[in-house]
Amino acid sequence: MHTKTLTELVTLLHSKQLSATELAQHYLNRITASDLNAFAHVDPEQTLLQAAHADHLLSQAHPHTLTGIPIAHKDIFVTRHWRSTAGSKMLANYTSPFDASVVEKFNQAGMVTLGKLNCDEFAMGSANENSYFGAVKNPWDKRAVPGGSSGGSAAAIAARLTPAATGTDTGGSIRQPASFCGITGIKPTYGRVSRFGMIAFASSLDQAGPMAQSAADCALLLNNMAGFDERDSTSLEHPAEDFCREIVAPASSQPLSGLRIGVPREFFGPGLAADVEQAVRAALATCQQLGATLVDISLPKTELSIPVYYVIAPAEASSNLSRFDGVRYGHRAASYDGLTDMYKKTRTEGFGEEVKRRILVGSYVLSHGYYDAYYLQAQKIRRLIANDFQEAFKSCDVIMGPVAPTVAWDLGDKADDPVASYLADIFTLSTSLAGLPGMSIPCGFGQGEKNSQRPVGLQLIGNYFSEARLLGIAHQYQCATDWHTRHPAA
Ligand code: GLN
Repeated sequence: MHTKTLTELVTLLHSKQLSATELAQHYLNRITASDLNAFAHVDPEQTLLQAAHADHLLSQAHPHTLTGIPIAHKDIFVTRHWRSTAGSKMLANYTSPFDASVVEKFNQAGMVTLGKLNCDEFAMGSANENSYFGAVKNPWDKRAVPGGSSGGSAAAIAARLTPAATGTDTGGSIRQPASFCGITGIKPTYGRVSRFGMIAFASSLDQAGPMAQSAADCALLLNNMAGFDERDSTSLEHPAEDFCREIVAPASSQPLSGLRIGVPREFFGPGLAADVEQAVRAALATCQQLGATLVDISLPKTELSIPVYYVIAPAEASSNLSRFDGVRYGHRAASYDGLTDMYKKTRTEGFGEEVKRRILVGSYVLSHGYYDAYYLQAQKIRRLIANDFQEAFKSCDVIMGPVAPTVAWDLGDKADDPVASYLADIFTLSTSLAGLPGMSIPCGFGQGEKNSQRPVGLQLIGNYFSEARLLGIAHQYQCATDWHTRHPAA
């Protein structure tokens, strides 16, 4: 049952061959039996209440397509019935009085929440090792990280603990864990999906998106996620569209004919591991067989995306995280001597190492005298990075390349070396800085250093608002290949 796609589950639920309660119970059992630490909080009673409600809706005329489908949310979205921790001790016991817009939309559709998914603290990380609730294991090889920060989401889908999940991507956190766990995920154009109720990391970059087994499943989910929200000041007033419109059966043996795929030189340099390069090149060759042509393109500022992102993201984080002061939310130190001491102790105790590092860097680059040299400069280069993409899109329709330079590394490998893990974000950051949509789809396996099977993701980057196109291209690739159907042995 758990290997079925969303479309298959929709059919089973709507034809009453399966009840929402049976389905939810099945996944709850799998979650209980799992040792991946993918979930941060489950509440079976609450889940089964939602499932019973879904069964009621399914017994009525015209239920919503997604009614009764289980979903789990990255623990960065606030929820009324499950704790909302952002992977932090600061919020370890926090329950929100409202649901995030994204959660609200899925609830309104009658979807059933299985629980909250572990993630890096405040979504800062690339390995899900920065969570107060412990690291998440990669279901393909438990010695490996699942990627981050949406590592719980990716691991849970790969291990078939949920058929659908939400993730957020600030600099790669949907695409990179999707790649490391061999699943499909899309980060939409910035502003497409409401950030209301998403615990903020870097507000000009944060964007939510769906994670699932396939592009077709992600399209179904995105249909119910996207849309203007007046409660989010950066939400875009873009006409509603059907993200499933290009999820169609291949019309010929060359369904991608006419498609120009830009292959950025800078994504295939010396830092790219041979096993990843091989899988990605094979995927590009498959696209050629499906009718697409490859175009050599350049994104010359790719390398600068790392320093630019690691100035802008910490700057915004230092500002966003100032709200966690022991007064308004979450943790407060047990004993202190005056107000300043209360702030100090609370924040010292409540935040983990990486979060503190970013608050320090962010406060530094925003401080008087350094603002012009770092923050303003980074903003200018951010514009040039976005311009690179517009130049590239003059000669191609979509850009493809690796998601990350290597397959998933071992747990602990980069835990003490933040710069090493920042460098591994090289292929995802520029898309985020430009606000473009990007996705990751499984395209093979590498071996890493351990001679084990670790998934490789193919990254697709499109121009603003091209999500339907990206999903359609990914779908054609998935009709011709079976990487997305593979899942780790139980
Ligand atoms: N790995 C990047 C970081 O640590 C991206 C995280 C994200 O997209 N949330 O900031």
